[in-house]
Amino acid sequence: MQMIFQDPYASLNPRMTVEQTLNEPVKFHNRNISENEVKKRVVDVMRQVGVDPSWVDRYPHEFSGGQRQRISIARALMVDPEFIVADEPVSALDVSIQAQILNLLMDAQEQRGLTYMFITHDLSVVRHISTRVAVMYLGRLCELARTVELFESPRHPYTQALLSAIPDIHNRKGAHVKLKGEVPTPINLPPGCVFHSRCPFANERCMREIPELIEIESGTFVACHGVEEGRL
Ligand code: SF4
Repeated sequence: MQMIFQDPYASLNPRMTVEQTLNEPVKFHNRNISENEVKKRVVDVMRQVGVDPSWVDRYPHEFSGGQRQRISIARALMVDPEFIVADEPVSALDVSIQAQILNLLMDAQEQRGLTYMFITHDLSVVRHISTRVAVMYLGRLCELARTVELFESPRHPYTQALLSAIPDIHNRKGAHVKLKGEVPTPINLPPGCVFHSRCPFANERCMREIPELIEIESGTFVACHGVEEGRL
């Protein structure tokens, strides 16, 4: 498993060259690997992420944000992982660079058979890159479903409100679900369903009992008393 972090400025050690940055995880995980093998892997991975291998002696400050994120991805790929946690990997980048990095991640996924857990607040990115989506509110899972099903028929009231906030040029009047109140503080979570103070469908049970994530149809899981009781 490897991880790609949100901020490509903070996640690379400014005192290490690209080569040192890429070498470190490989040598740590493969104690007997030869120098030649490491060098070959560095060149291959740099080519794959679109960074010129002749720049291996450069330091992070000599690269743009997009190039740094490519180097972070290269660092993750160096140990040939099966699973990568990508924590908001494009949200610190310009929109044009975001598309390049997303395409790079999707190409790497196809070529290497990778699985990503992709954490983001950007719903267009979610729709573009995901196979399955898990929606969270205040640290709790609300809904887990295949991407097409989730975007076409969201079941949890929070997912419905979230998706209704996506601007739609064909639906200007819109069916935007306006939520009342503020998000409660995560250090003092409300009892029961954490969404109950803002949910238009909350009842007395919602205020005292935490809803379990249950499979309501094949591949779709929802944590909501209203859905479980058939009210929603
Ligand atoms: S459990 Fe109750 S409060 Fe929570 S989302 Fe469902 S209906 Fe709303």
